[in-house]
Amino acid sequence: MQRIGKLSRSLLGDGTIAATLLRTDAPAETARKRQNLTEHSASLLAEVMTVCAYFSSFLKDEKSFVSLSVRGETILSATADGKGNLVGRCEREGRVKDAVFALTRFDCGLPETGAVKLSDGEISSAFCEFFEASEQRLARAVLGERFQRGAFLCAGGIFLEALPGAKEEVFRKIAEKLPSKEELCALFEEKDPLRELFGGEILFEREIRFHCRCSRRKAALAVISLGKEDALALQRERGALEVCCPECGRNYSFSQEQIMELFKQNG
Ligand SMILES: [Zn+2]
Repeated sequence: MQRIGKLSRSLLGDGTIAATLLRTDAPAETARKRQNLTEHSASLLAEVMTVCAYFSSFLKDEKSFVSLSVRGETILSATADGKGNLVGRCEREGRVKDAVFALTRFDCGLPETGAVKLSDGEISSAFCEFFEASEQRLARAVLGERFQRGAFLCAGGIFLEALPGAKEEVFRKIAEKLPSKEELCALFEEKDPLRELFGGEILFEREIRFHCRCSRRKAALAVISLGKEDALALQRERGALEVCCPECGRNYSFSQEQIMELFKQNG
C-alpha cells in the first residue's frame, strides 16, 4: 500500500486526450478503518473517493471542492478540495444497483449539480455516463482495488478524457490500451504506470490525503446548539452524547461532565 495518495496526469494524442492515474489506497484505508467497513463497502467507497478526487483536480482554486454521493440501498459520499484533501463516508452499507450518482461542484460561483442512475451497478460506468452527459466529451474509467487480510493493498483508477478538439478514433484507439479492473493493481506496481501503458510524460502530479474539516471543537458547537437541557437529556438516554461527522463518520463523544463543562464555559 502507498502511504500517500497520488494523482498523475499526462497528455496523449497530440495533447487532445488527458490520461490520469489515481492511487487512493491510503485515504481509502483510513476511511475503511475509521468506519470498520466490510470489503464490499470499502471497495465501493474507494471508487467513489477516487472519482471524487479526479473531479477535484479540475477545480479553479484550492478552497473550491466537489462532493459526490451514491444513494440507493447503500449511502456513500466523498468530498475533495482543490488542495488534494479527500474524505469519504459510508453512511449505510448495501447494494449499489439502481443507486443515484450525484456530483456537486462548489467552484467559484453557484454550486452545480448533476446526477445519473447507476443502472449496471458500476461506479466507473456511472462516471462515464455522467461525464459524457455533463461535458459532452468522451471519457473512460477503470477503477479497481485489492485487499490483503481485510486491509487495502491497492485502490485507485485510470481515467481517459477527450479534451476539446480530440478525434473520436484517436480516443478509441488509446482507450483500447486501458487495463481491465482485475489488471489495474498489477499495473500499479510499475514505476510509471502511465508511461508503461501509453508512453506519455507526466505533466501534473498531486498528493492526495485523507483529511476532514471536522474537529472536537466543531462537534462541541453542535452540542451547544442543542441547548443544555436537550443535550443532557440525550446523554442520559444513551450514556454519552455522540456527534457524528457527516463527512467522515467520526464520532465525538461527550459525557455528562463534559457537557456541563461546555455550558459552564459558554454560558
Ligand atoms: Zn469529519
